[in-house]
Order: sequence, then C-alpha cells, then structure tokens
Amino acid sequence: MRKWMYAALAGAVLLTAGCSSDTGGKGQGASGGDGTPKVGVAIYKYDDTFMTGVRNAMQSAAGGKATLDIVDSQNSQPTQNEKVDLFISKKYNAMAINAVDRTAAGVIIDKAQAANIPVVFLNREPMAEDMNKWDKVYYVGAKAEESGTISGQLIVDYWKSHPEADKNGDGKLQYVLLRGEPGHQDAELRSKFSIQAIKDAGIEVEALADDTAMWDRVKGQEKMQAFLAAHGDKIEAVLANNDDMALGAIEALKAAGYFTGDKFIPVVGVDATAPAIQALQDGTLLGTVLNDAKNQGAATVALASVLGKGETPSKENTGYDLIDGKYVWIAYKKITKDNVSEAQ
Ligand code: BGC
Ligand code: CA
Repeated sequence: MRKWMYAALAGAVLLTAGCSSDTGGKGQGASGGDGTPKVGVAIYKYDDTFMTGVRNAMQSAAGGKATLDIVDSQNSQPTQNEKVDLFISKKYNAMAINAVDRTAAGVIIDKAQAANIPVVFLNREPMAEDMNKWDKVYYVGAKAEESGTISGQLIVDYWKSHPEADKNGDGKLQYVLLRGEPGHQDAELRSKFSIQAIKDAGIEVEALADDTAMWDRVKGQEKMQAFLAAHGDKIEAVLANNDDMALGAIEALKAAGYFTGDKFIPVVGVDATAPAIQALQDGTLLGTVLNDAKNQGAATVALASVLGKGETPSKENTGYDLIDGKYVWIAYKKITKDNVSEAQ
C-alpha cells in the first residue's frame, strides 16, 4: 500500500474507533491514534483458557506495533464471518483469525482477498489448499505432532522409572485418553503421536477409553468420572490433549481417592497454563507441554503489523522464521515439576 493511502486509512480508523461497539471497554479494542496499522482480531471463543493467554499476549505485544480490535466469535463460524465482514467494512489494514472451524478458512480468505486485506490465521490451522489460495495468507501455530510426542514421552519416563505403574502387572499400559475438539489438528495429532511415542518406547498399550471432552475442564471431569465408573483402578494413565481437560480429570480422580497417601496415577496435559503449573507443583499433574502463548501472540502481532504496513513478513522485520514463506512454528517444550520456571 502506498504511504499516503496508509496514512489516510489510519486517519479514517482514528475517526471511527471511538464509536465502534466492538472496541469499547476493558482495553480490548482500538486505542487508535498512534498511527500503527489497525488489525481486526477474531478469537474462536473467549471462554478458552489457552486462547485467553494468547489474546493477552497479543495485547502486550501490540504496543507501538499495531492497534488491535479483538472480538469474540462465540464458537460460531457464522458469527465469526460477520466479524470478518465488519473488519473489512472498517477497512482495517490486516486481520488475525483464530478460526472457529478451520475448514471454513477458505471463505474468510476469499473475503480477505477480495478486499485486499492480508490475513494471519493462528492456533487453528487452515488446510494446505486454503493456505495456497492467496499469497497474503499466513499461519502462526505449533507443530501438533511434537506436543503429542512429548506428552507420550512424559508417560514413558514415568512408566520406566516406576515398575508399580503397571498396576495389574500384565506388562501393558492401560490408559484413557481425553481428546480436544474433533477435527482440530491439535486433537487429532496429539492423540495419535502421544500413543505412538509410548509404543515407540517398546511399551504395549491398551485403550480402556478414548473420548472427546472438547478442550473443556468440566467436560474432562465428567468424562473421567464415567471412565472411573466403568474401569476404576484398572486405569494406569490419563492422557489429555490439553491442561484444562487434565485438570478436570484430576478433580474426578481426587474425588475417587487419588493423590492422597500413595494412591497415584500419572496424568499429562498440554499448554502449561497457570493452574496446570500449580497442579505440577502440587504433585497431581505429572507433566505438561508448554504451548507458548506468549510467542504465538507476539508472532501473530508482528506478522499482522508488517502486513498491515503493506510489507512482506521476514525474519528481519518480524523476528520469526517464516517456513515456506508463510508458516511460523513456535516450539513446544516438555514441562515437569523440575523445570516449571521455564513455563512461567
Ligand atoms: C490448546 C487448547 C485450546 C485449543 C483452542 C490448543 O492448541 O492446547 O487448550 O483449547 O488450542 O483452539
Ligand atoms: Ca497394566
């Protein structure tokens, strides 16, 4: 975009920012007026622990780089599409979209392209064919398979150092699995690669139960209650695709007498949220995988800011490596009681 156009747009935004219903209150929306590119951000739903961390990270990273108008898509794709239409009608300089349904990214890309507004997707990875639709489409996320492998390894480490973990002594690991939302790359790949890592370590496995709890703590607790009712002490390990579900499972396990005396069961999650770190320190959660909200938020803002200025993102102007010219992958990290400080 030519400089004068950018300046004119920034001016227009400045005039409208004050009366936009999306921008009011709590510092969520436009502060406007500092001349930074205006970025429309749609989060799949506000009521998600990990995405709340990313949202906060985006806000902290925005200072001097971008003016964010962050909105809640309320877990509805039609609602999100309306938000995107609104961003376009406000002539924002870039958009950052945490898709409700990642297979719906194509529709958003078509809208963005028609308006020539670059778009950075985050956390919910669009299909490769959608990513290839237009050259101003980017993705910031983490390699789901990596987090799966690490969470499987946490169980392997425990199993190998605790012979009593094989409660029924049959040489097999009887586990239950709590999955995130079906279709989400992190749910599919974490499930697959966590079990694969256990098998790769030479441990035979048996799935006693495998169900989705939709990334949700309360649902995780309910599913774990049902698993305990059906299988009781036959369960030797709990794998959860995220910390919220792991923490829900821990609640159900506590109610069943676990984590008092020597009644223990290894539970692993992913994210390293603050309550999960607390559970690690309490000795209820065995381990988790840092899903780096801070860097995912900062990288999204860096890309959107550069794109909003009409420039092409690179390592030099964003600070992040761009793979295939359009993907930023933030590394995961194994977190246990011994290295909690690395997640804080
Ligand atoms: C996180 C989950 C979160 C989901 C939202 C995942 O990467 O691990 O905690 O609910 O993203 O899309
Ligand atoms: Ca066993």
